[in-house]
Amino acid sequence: MPRPIQATIHPEALRANLARVRLAAHDARVWAVVKANAYGHGVARVFEGLRGADGFAVLDLSEAQSLRALDWRGPVLLLEGVFEQRDLELCSRLDLWHVVHTEAQIDMLSRHKTQLPQRVFLKMNSGMNRLGFAPERFRSAWARLNALPQVEEISLMTHFAHADDAVGVQAQMQVFHDTSHDLLGERSLANSAAVLRHGADPQVAADWVRPGIALYGSSPDHGLHNAAHWGLRPAMSLRSQLIGLQALKAGDEVGYGGLFKAPQAMYIGVVACGYADGYPRHAPSGTPVLVNGVRCQTVGRVSMDMLCVDLTPVPQASLGSEVTLWGQATAGQVLCIDEVAAAAGTLGYELMCALAPRVPVVVEASAESDRH
Ligand SMILES: *Cc1c(COP(=O)(O)O)cnc(C)c1O
Repeated sequence: MPRPIQATIHPEALRANLARVRLAAHDARVWAVVKANAYGHGVARVFEGLRGADGFAVLDLSEAQSLRALDWRGPVLLLEGVFEQRDLELCSRLDLWHVVHTEAQIDMLSRHKTQLPQRVFLKMNSGMNRLGFAPERFRSAWARLNALPQVEEISLMTHFAHADDAVGVQAQMQVFHDTSHDLLGERSLANSAAVLRHGADPQVAADWVRPGIALYGSSPDHGLHNAAHWGLRPAMSLRSQLIGLQALKAGDEVGYGGLFKAPQAMYIGVVACGYADGYPRHAPSGTPVLVNGVRCQTVGRVSMDMLCVDLTPVPQASLGSEVTLWGQATAGQVLCIDEVAAAAGTLGYELMCALAPRVPVVVEASAESDRH
């Protein structure tokens, strides 16, 4: 028998989260963002649950190729555009739309030989200072693209730095509007946080929204609102089992460095899950975990292949008892990945993306996919 650890992908949750985002996005079309191998879930594994999206947004050409191999004929957008000249040939061959954020990318387009003009998303740096044309360069970039026979349609795009916090999106919205209000083309501005928090403003939802994290059931502003508040369900569950039990006396230590000392006699369980599985090593004693669906806490240091749990809340736990590191227990109780991430000083984003290749992943069979 392999180690009992397994990740399960839930297509029903992906479908429900997509519907939740649509509800917040007015009539905007939805790019399902599946970069970073669908935030660690696997592009092919989320495809069934997310095929109701209007398009898929990716970073790597290989992800775009996977989508075409899955027979997705709809729009695919390269969020950072092309990296070198010959990438444009693949864009032509696979009919990929791509972001243009530098003059160098416009140069490449101007040299590209194609019969089929391409659709591009021109990106403005409206204040985040990561990718995009500064406002004073944006209009000349638009004019340059507009004059190219290789370009069929130009859409306008920007990205918010503060959609998830109290600063909000207003200042960047103003820059975007002032710079581009009279330019033709569809608009795309909002990530998950912007859709859920500010999507009621049709100018924020615009023509296309670009949710990622919300589709996977993690809250984009966890410190303020949890996933349940937003009506999001975990798309991934990481589950394992108890493979060892220890009866501790008061004063006994647990794990490397003896970081945890039993305050009284207690039972702990040893879980087949460690940092080599993608569980955060920085999760301190007290990080939440479900044993048989009951909320417990970790004790001691997370090691490469194991971690330990205080079994006080589940005296009936035994070898083989189910342990849910995040997501949904088989019996339905939920431990949001954001809570584990917060305990470890990071975000749900990082934990889901870091799921280790050694963890077997299965896609939950759903009533819906049986009908296809
Ligand atoms: C990753 C990304 C998104 C999705 O962001 P979430 O916070 O996961 O919703 C949207 N737009 C761009 C440009 C991105 O790179």
